[in-house]
Amino acid sequence: MATTTSTRASATAGQRPRPDQLDSKLAYLTRVLKTPTIGRVWQDLADTAREANWSHEEYLSAVLERQVADRESAGNMMRVRTAHFPAIKTLDDFNLEHLPSLRKDVLAHLATATFVPKADNVVLLGPPGIGKTHLAIGLGIKAAQAGNSVLFDTATNWITRLSRAHHAGALETELKKIRRYRLIIIDEVGYIPFDTDAANLFFQLVASRYEQASILVTSNLPFGRWGEVFGDEVVAAAMIDRLVHHAEVLTLAGDSYRTRARRELLTKDRNK
Ligand code: ADP
Ligand code: MG
Repeated sequence: MATTTSTRASATAGQRPRPDQLDSKLAYLTRVLKTPTIGRVWQDLADTAREANWSHEEYLSAVLERQVADRESAGNMMRVRTAHFPAIKTLDDFNLEHLPSLRKDVLAHLATATFVPKADNVVLLGPPGIGKTHLAIGLGIKAAQAGNSVLFDTATNWITRLSRAHHAGALETELKKIRRYRLIIIDEVGYIPFDTDAANLFFQLVASRYEQASILVTSNLPFGRWGEVFGDEVVAAAMIDRLVHHAEVLTLAGDSYRTRARRELLTKDRNK
């Protein structure tokens, strides 16, 4: 198969194809190269190039640019899909005026996703309904669009995944597999307390990524109460140490977005 391809390619190289053969030749070549966008755009761009008097180099770069752009956006869509976000919530949809306690400059910096290649962490703390999950998803999408592999799950589900691996004697393999994701999001630490085994597994997850790959954690509890969640002050302290050593910690305060939206509706009704 490979021989046939190379024979065919070299047999036709050098010969100038007739204009009416170019279509099928380019269709064939773009298929072999797996560059469908080029196959789709070369003709239209050639017309544009002729009209605008582009040089050969300008034409070539325009064609390749389209292919690269399509490949990147396909990659972005794929990374967003495989991140398993519970919903698609973007930072654009997030109403910053509702949350004055959120520092806009810090959020803008995190949205550049440069914390991911540095293996830095992000911690979002605050009461229920304040927008932690929304922000976590929005930042996760930004990270995925910047080319990073991302995986989202709740703390409880992460623990289930790890304890399954642990019981199968494959915890190390599993942690290694998870490390291939440049960013993992652990949502809702604190809603459900962990037993000792779960706390240890969680510690191992954090430790295995320390200075190697990023974690974004959300929690309804301040660090001071994580001992209650993990049932052990020492484990909690050791974990928080690793988590925050290179991290942006955002403590959000204010009303639940849901409650506030409801209250505003009621006030509006009353003022009618
Ligand atoms: P948390 O995870 O902190 O409990 P969520 O992120 O789930 O809160 O937010 C609750 C709901 O309110 C979600 O539907 C979310 O999209 C919405 N929400 C919260 N804060 C904002 C905001 N500032 N702008 C727009 N929507 C928000
Ligand atoms: Mg949440």
